[in-house]
Amino acid sequence: MNHLSKKRAIKDMIIDKADFWEKHEAVTPYLDAELDENPASENLVTPVEADALDEADLCIQCGACHYACPVVEISDDFMGPAAFAAAYRFEADVRDGNESRLTDVNQMGSGVWDCVKCFECAEACPKEINPIEKIGKLHNMLFQSGKADSNIATRHAVGFEKSMKKNGVLDEGGLVLYSELAGIVKHVPVALKMFTKGKIVPPWGITKSQNLDEIQKLIQSSSTAKF
Ligand code: SF4
Ligand code: SF4
Repeated sequence: MNHLSKKRAIKDMIIDKADFWEKHEAVTPYLDAELDENPASENLVTPVEADALDEADLCIQCGACHYACPVVEISDDFMGPAAFAAAYRFEADVRDGNESRLTDVNQMGSGVWDCVKCFECAEACPKEINPIEKIGKLHNMLFQSGKADSNIATRHAVGFEKSMKKNGVLDEGGLVLYSELAGIVKHVPVALKMFTKGKIVPPWGITKSQNLDEIQKLIQSSSTAKF
C-alpha cells in the first residue's frame, strides 16, 4: 500500500510539484543529439532499439512515484524515481549523445545508489512504468560505462554476486563485511545478537547450495558488467 507524501499539499487535490520539476530538469530530459535538420532520409530506429526504452517514454510526469518514494520524503537531494525513469528513457535512446546525464545520476546522495529498492514507485505508477526496474538498468549502464565508483551500494551489488557465486546462498555477514569495509565496526553489536540467535553464520559455517553449478552458470550468463 502506498503512502503518498502530504508535506507538499496546498489544498485538496493541489500539491506543490516544484521539487519534482527541478529534479526532472536535472537529468536533461530530452533527446540530446546532433541531428541533421535537413536529412536526406528519416532517422530510423529499429523495433529492437525502440524496445530498449522499455516503455519509459510512456511516463506522464504525474509524480505519483516521486511522492510515494520514502527516500524523496526524507532527502531533499534524492532525484527520485520519475527523474531516473526519464534519465533511463534518454540514455537508452540510440540517437542520444548526452555525455553528462549518466554522471549526474551517479552521485551519492542524489543519484541512483541511494534507492533502497522498496518498490513503492512501481506500485504507485498508473502507467506501469516500473521506475525501480529503470534504476536497475541505470546501475548496469554505470557499471558497463566504468562510471560506477566503489561505494557502499556498488560494493553491496558486487558482494552479493560474489557470495552467490561462491556458495549459491547469501552470506549475510560476509556481505556486510564486503560492503562496508571500515564502517563494519558499528554493526558489531547487531551482528553479535544475530549470531547468538542463529540469524547469521560464520563464513566457515555456510552450507553451499546443492544447485551451486546451476547458479554459477546463471550468474555467468546474466552478468553484464565487470567491476
Ligand atoms: S524503489 Fe527506490 S526510487 Fe522506488 S520508491 Fe523505493 S527508494 Fe524510491
Ligand atoms: S508514476 Fe509513472 S507515469 Fe507518473 S511520474 Fe512516475 S513513472 Fe511517470
